[in-house]
Amino acid sequence: MDSILRTSLHNFESAAERLGLDESVRRRVLGPKEKVEVAINPVLPNGETANVKVFVGRHNDAIGPAKGGIRMTPDVTLDDITGLAMEMTWKTSLIGVPFGGGKSGIRFDPASISADAKEIIIRSFTRGVRRHIGPELYIPAPDMGTTEADMAHIRDCISYSEGTSITNGCFVTGKPVVLGGIVGRREATGKGVVYAVLAMCEKLGLDIGSTRVVVQGFGNVGSVAAAEIARHGAKVVGVADLSGGVANADGMDIDALHEHCSQSGTVAGFAGATEIDKDEVFGLDCDILIPAAAGSQITEENADSIRAKIVAEGANAPTTPQADEILNRRGVLVIPDILCNAGGVFVSYLEYTQETQREQMTLAEVEQRLADRMRQRFGEVHESARREGLSMRDAAMNMAVRGVVEAVTARGFRP
Ligand code: NAD
Repeated sequence: MDSILRTSLHNFESAAERLGLDESVRRRVLGPKEKVEVAINPVLPNGETANVKVFVGRHNDAIGPAKGGIRMTPDVTLDDITGLAMEMTWKTSLIGVPFGGGKSGIRFDPASISADAKEIIIRSFTRGVRRHIGPELYIPAPDMGTTEADMAHIRDCISYSEGTSITNGCFVTGKPVVLGGIVGRREATGKGVVYAVLAMCEKLGLDIGSTRVVVQGFGNVGSVAAAEIARHGAKVVGVADLSGGVANADGMDIDALHEHCSQSGTVAGFAGATEIDKDEVFGLDCDILIPAAAGSQITEENADSIRAKIVAEGANAPTTPQADEILNRRGVLVIPDILCNAGGVFVSYLEYTQETQREQMTLAEVEQRLADRMRQRFGEVHESARREGLSMRDAAMNMAVRGVVEAVTARGFRP
């Protein structure tokens, strides 16, 4: 079993124990509603036929249609998608949007192909799993390896097959604004991470302007979180991506790093910092660590080397249960993924309502609602953790699972 799924199952099982869920409820909430593997064979621009495995998982839809991103990586598995869909069930419940948990995957390396080839694969994925996507079923969004351009192709592929200009309702979020996307969605996850960090600093009486931050991953979530936290005066002293790492104890110019990265495709080689091994970032001296890359990055092998006081989980399932125990024991404060990176799905919900109602929201409205919701839910989780003597992860899981159990029970147990 892959470790993302193992982490998700562990987090659920321990919440179920704490909440004393009876066996029938436990089984109903644990089991995925649907998981599918489909083979697609798109013909790429070089004339070759690719053989690509794609996956869709819907974990639980008691509260609403399944929501969750599309992961496009060379090694994604159906187990990963099952675990990540489960994470989405808790995340949507915790952040309070009327969705359930879903996720999908495309097993292919997006870095190895042209934009044209990627568009062909995305359209082929859309046709291949078309019957699993819909505003009342499963609504995808960007995740690792996918972007708003891909969401545009999905929407176009569906409306093209319907022979219409637009889709009837919201089939995908994270689209370009010109195609019915919402302003601020691209930045929402990274900004939400920073709102959670600011709320934690406030609780600790820590001035964000005096903190040093390390970020793992410089894609959508990591690059936005780094820029946003630097804008609040923090020094970003280390950043790593898949190709390398850079460090500068005096802080880096994140705009310049972004510029470098968009030209070279990696943070490695950035002139404003010293080159380090990508795995060395976790051991850098800092106050706040933001893992914003793949899952299972903080493990029992490296958890002891982490010097941060706060770990803000921008990524999904970045910490294994064993590492989580070590961090807890050492008094490192972990803001759990289902809270910390929920800003993206919250703004996806705003996009969904905007499209359904043919409304238009301004950036100011979106940002205010995002900031308010992150602050409110952070406060509730923090207070519950304090009151019950739990870690923030355990408190967040208790609240999230309770919400789903309530919905499952209210629906009743007969089909
Ligand atoms: P992305 O593809 O835009 O960027 C991923 C980044 O991580 C890249 O810089 C990549 O080089 C780096 N990376 C991957 N593996 C790495 C490794 N082993 N070591 C160091 N760096 C590595 O993806 P993203 O959308 O920014 O997503 C990042 C994480 O945040 C994922 O776990 C994703 O599930 C989670 N997340 C994303 C969103 C969203 O809205 N995009 C929402 C919630 C959670």
